[in-house]
Amino acid sequence: MNGRVLVLGAGFAGLELATVLSEELGEEAGVVLVDEADAFVFGYSKLDVMFGHAEPADVRLPYSDLVKQGVRVLRETITAIDPDARQVTTDGGVHEGDVLVVALGADYDVDATPGLVLGENEFYSVAGAERLRDVLPTFTGGSAVVGVCGAPFKCPPAPSEAALLLHDFLSERGVRGACEISLVMPFGTPVPPSPDTSAALLEAFDERGIRFLANRRIGALDAERRIAVLDDGGELPCDLFLGIPKHRAPRVVLESGLAEDGYVPVDSRTLETRVPNVYAVGDVATVGVPKAGVFSEGEARVVARFLVARLRGDEPPAGYDGRGACYVEFGAGRVGRVDVDFLSGPKPTGTFRQPSAALVAEKREFGASRRSRWFGRAESLA
Ligand SMILES: Cc1cc2nc3c(=O)[nH]c(=O)nc-3n(C[C@H](O)[C@H](O)[C@H](O)COP(=O)(O)OP(=O)(O)OC[C@H]3O[C@@H](n4cnc5c(N)ncnc54)[C@H](O)[C@@H]3O)c2cc1C
Repeated sequence: MNGRVLVLGAGFAGLELATVLSEELGEEAGVVLVDEADAFVFGYSKLDVMFGHAEPADVRLPYSDLVKQGVRVLRETITAIDPDARQVTTDGGVHEGDVLVVALGADYDVDATPGLVLGENEFYSVAGAERLRDVLPTFTGGSAVVGVCGAPFKCPPAPSEAALLLHDFLSERGVRGACEISLVMPFGTPVPPSPDTSAALLEAFDERGIRFLANRRIGALDAERRIAVLDDGGELPCDLFLGIPKHRAPRVVLESGLAEDGYVPVDSRTLETRVPNVYAVGDVATVGVPKAGVFSEGEARVVARFLVARLRGDEPPAGYDGRGACYVEFGAGRVGRVDVDFLSGPKPTGTFRQPSAALVAEKREFGASRRSRWFGRAESLA
């Protein structure tokens, strides 16, 4: 099958790209969108599922609901990418595009951390979040470790959120006094570009007796000795592990020749790879911004506008600006926000907005607006 624009991956980036092209070009969009999954799940929904705030079935947005003019959705697994030919092989056939957009996200390199098991003791996959949802109620005393196994990782505030939400979970069950919570992060502060956000999080950890171990990552887990081994050889008692696996681009991307140092290098303003008419957007690319949905969709919008302008013979749009807002769960139903700007100045900056009821509503609207734009489903999920 030949498509004008072949989009690999229907996550934050692929969904936004297909949506903008469909809105702008209708039937002429000629988008073929390929994903192996049957549904999209927001990253933050994994926290909701793990802590029992949402049912797994309720956070799934099935791709069968994605009906857009000019967009064909294929549920296939991509097994090879030939960038020069702009051709991909899947378990369903071979597809070509005039333009190829790689939006396959970041995958997990669990083998890099002995003792880490996908779908068991990590909450970055849907299966892992669902599994830990069953494990958490059985944890009534001992040492819990929220631990990052490598950087970069998706959504830098998520481990801090997990530690704070774990505190709530254990407190509500009356067992917090019998439990220790440690958070192991490979950064000096929880959210390095925003000292105010980091200070607020460190204060929240302090108030709740959560131990923050900075500039460390998890090297291995020893289930028999109930120990988490740190990269410096130090050891932490660990009866419950909520892990953030080491990330890398999906294997099919690493084998395509597009990647360097684990991800696809691109021009940060245009998202072009070294191959003409081949773009990489979102977590799969090295753009100079964190790996988060809000950046993935912003990058996708730039590529979509560029493709539309080129088709219409218009001036190219402004390049990607590296700006985005992330919501941060502080526990007790409170949500803060950090507005970050990664590309306009000599170094990244971030502005913190204190947790408030208005931000709880704003985060809900963030999800609802994407659901309605991408899937035509406006109803709010938990
Ligand atoms: C716990 C947690 C909390 C988070 N919270 C937030 C938040 O509050 N705000 C925020 O902005 N971001 C958040 N994120 C991060 C966010 O989910 C990701 O950064 C975002 O999904 C990246 O979008 P993407 O389109 O680049 O990749 P993805 O959304 O990962 O999409 C990639 C797609 O490619 C498909 N794919 C991969 N390989 C293949 C293959 N071989 N064949 C076919 N299909 C394939 C996958 O099925 C997937 O659908 C969070 C993440 C986690 C884990």
